[in-house]
Amino acid sequence: MSDCLFCKIIAGEIPSKRVYENEFVYAFEDIAPCAPVHVLVVPKKHFASAKELTGADAEILSEIFKGINEVARLTGVSESGYRVVTNVGRDAGQTVLHLHFHVLGGKLFGADFG
Ligand code: 5GP
Ligand code: ZN
Repeated sequence: MSDCLFCKIIAGEIPSKRVYENEFVYAFEDIAPCAPVHVLVVPKKHFASAKELTGADAEILSEIFKGINEVARLTGVSESGYRVVTNVGRDAGQTVLHLHFHVLGGKLFGADFG
């Protein structure tokens, strides 16, 4: 989508700090990190959010989670643990309408999701 921030980042029109990339996904450092490791994993194909995913997108979802595992390994949190979050819509606080998965690690998280 031409007016989408993350589509522009994927296309290299807006700079980002790349962590990992393959044919299906792009992963880059969040500009305002909430944890020592805070990487966004996004599909190169535009979806507004996880709500748009269907059974036809199984391959992309599989690639996203392979990408998440790769990011965890590359950033050194694979063994210590990490949190994977995707926000959907207003009440979740989604601010960028291109499906993305936050990979958060390098600190101890509480059980509170509020
Ligand atoms: P959301 O709130 O939609 O789940 O997450 C959007 C995330 O994108 C936020 O954590 C925010 O810091 C990050 N973000 C917004 N604009 C940019 C940008 O231009 N570059 C990068 N690297 N991250 C961004
Ligand atoms: Zn997009």
